[in-house]
Amino acid sequence: MGIIKTILKRVLKENTIVEKQKISESAYRIRVKSDNIKDVEFVAGYFLRIGIGMTEESLTMKDFVRSYSVWDLDKTNGTLDLAIATHSKGSGAKWAEQRKVGDKVYFTWKKGNFILDDTANSYLFIGDLSALSHLYIIRRNLPKDKQVESILYSQHKSELFADIDGTMPFNFYELPENPYSEIIAEIKKIIPHMTGRKMVYVGGDSRICVALNQYFRRELNWDTKQIKTKPFWNPDKKGLE
Ligand SMILES: Cc1cc2nc3c(=O)[nH]c(=O)nc-3n(C[C@H](O)[C@H](O)[C@H](O)COP(=O)(O)OP(=O)(O)OC[C@H]3O[C@@H](n4cnc5c(N)ncnc54)[C@H](O)[C@@H]3O)c2cc1C
Repeated sequence: MGIIKTILKRVLKENTIVEKQKISESAYRIRVKSDNIKDVEFVAGYFLRIGIGMTEESLTMKDFVRSYSVWDLDKTNGTLDLAIATHSKGSGAKWAEQRKVGDKVYFTWKKGNFILDDTANSYLFIGDLSALSHLYIIRRNLPKDKQVESILYSQHKSELFADIDGTMPFNFYELPENPYSEIIAEIKKIIPHMTGRKMVYVGGDSRICVALNQYFRRELNWDTKQIKTKPFWNPDKKGLE
């Protein structure tokens, strides 16, 4: 592992944690700074693959990397913010809990398809605590004239944090894990009020992503281009992507 880490240190971008804050009972905000953030080509929805094993000696290969969405990016100052949930209690959660200001962070950029798409008129955002920051940055980058609806849930409402600018633009729900029927009931109330071309973003629990993708396609006959889903975690797996 020692040689691999030495090689990776040359390849991965090195950044420094400049701020860390507990933003709810189950989430941390981490701000990292580096000159290379000033030049990055960025679209809301891009995420990082962080080499958490670079700074944790005990981790095995399967725990070496975890993905985290960019919550905010400031090119002028060369900083970006992450919001990391700790429900999993896995190596990523522990890494976030233990980080201190001044620690190094190593990562690569990932783009994917779960990114800003401003071609619709009305949007529905659905997700759990792990996807909240990702959905916030997409909403923040939509033109102001778009209609925005939302179902953001957690087992304890107080775990859901405000956006980085202090606003609370989403509707928060206190729901059990994997709350498919509760979400469907809310969707049925929301959809009739959505106007023009509609789009839905679903992020977080893979069971909800799969089930809602099917619901929107089969029950509501939405086109695949209107449905954006991204599983962030799966109850039977460690880490995803
Ligand atoms: C594209 C992408 C972007 C992501 N962005 C973020 C982000 O911005 N913030 C963030 O917090 N996470 C994000 N994730 C999830 C993150 O990568 C990790 O999967 C997560 O932090 C769990 O890692 P872990 O090592 O703590 O737990 P693991 O060792 O991976 O898992 C331990 C156990 O916890 C379960 N588990 C994992 N996550 C949760 C959860 N949220 N609630 C309940 N149980 C869970 C697993 O199923 C497993 O049983 C993202 C994932 C992807 C694919």
